[in-house]
Amino acid sequence: MENCLFCKIINGEIPSSIVYKDDEVIAFKDINPQAPVHILVVPREHIQSALDKKATDGKMLSSVFSAIAKIAKDNKLDNGFRIINNCGTDGGQTVPHLHFHLLGGRPLGDKVV
Ligand code: AMP
Ligand code: ZN
Repeated sequence: MENCLFCKIINGEIPSSIVYKDDEVIAFKDINPQAPVHILVVPREHIQSALDKKATDGKMLSSVFSAIAKIAKDNKLDNGFRIINNCGTDGGQTVPHLHFHLLGGRPLGDKVV
């Protein structure tokens, strides 16, 4: 997908700190971390948001959650962590390529739900 920031990261046009990759998913450090561990877990396929029909195709979401479990283990997030998906304008999504924020490494007290 042209002009998509995360597609450019996925194809190497824009540098990033990649912490995990497999056939379907890559994960890299957020450039503006909100916690000691703040990693974005991203499907390689350009999927606009959680509302995109492609979001529920195949085993992508299963791969995302397997990746999350591995990354959490690698980062010793044994006390827990938070996964966030911002969807659309009201959800605060700023990059229109589906992604999951994995946050941890400190108590995350500021719960919304
Ligand atoms: P969202 O607001 O849910 O769409 O999340 C987008 C996230 O992408 C934000 O947390 C940004 O800090 C992060 N971000 C933007 N540009 C980059 C980049 N070049 N490398 C890594 N993370 C980025
Ligand atoms: Zn994209």
